[in-house]
Amino acid sequence: MIAELSAALAAIKETASLARVISEAKTDAEIKAATSEIQSKLIALQMDCFSLGDVVRLREEQITHLKAKIAEFEDFRSQTEGYVLEQLESGSFVYSKNELVSGREISVKLCPLCYSKNVKSILHSIPVAKSSHFHKSRCLLCENKFLMNKNPDYERPKSFGEIGRELNGERWLER
Ligand SMILES: [Zn+2]
Repeated sequence: MIAELSAALAAIKETASLARVISEAKTDAEIKAATSEIQSKLIALQMDCFSLGDVVRLREEQITHLKAKIAEFEDFRSQTEGYVLEQLESGSFVYSKNELVSGREISVKLCPLCYSKNVKSILHSIPVAKSSHFHKSRCLLCENKFLMNKNPDYERPKSFGEIGRELNGERWLER
């Protein structure tokens, strides 16, 4: 039981027994003493009620806060329904799901870091050069960048030796 409630109930019990003392009192002095004790018990009881009010108010605030947290989580759960953890060709882990976007089914990928914080954030692709082995994506919320699947347009950058040979070859042709 809440401590403040136990204190209030104890004060009520003591006040009731003091009332019995008054009804059985034989002298004015006895009545006066019991009456003044009842008054102080009632003041204590009033204080206990104020504390109890504070406890109830605090609990209500906690309930409101928890309800908001639950609603937030339920909202995230419904927004991310069907998304599954997937490992891409680069090794990165993302949450993905095939979604219909402008009548076209595409694989929408979510940021795993934001997902772990119950936030749905779609990864946006960044244009990459031919020298990049993998496609890249960026989370607009946490700014993290991820290596995605292989870049089909990938071309291995030429080595200095190859560049040198090409240049010499051209010079040889010019002669
Ligand atoms: Zn993110």
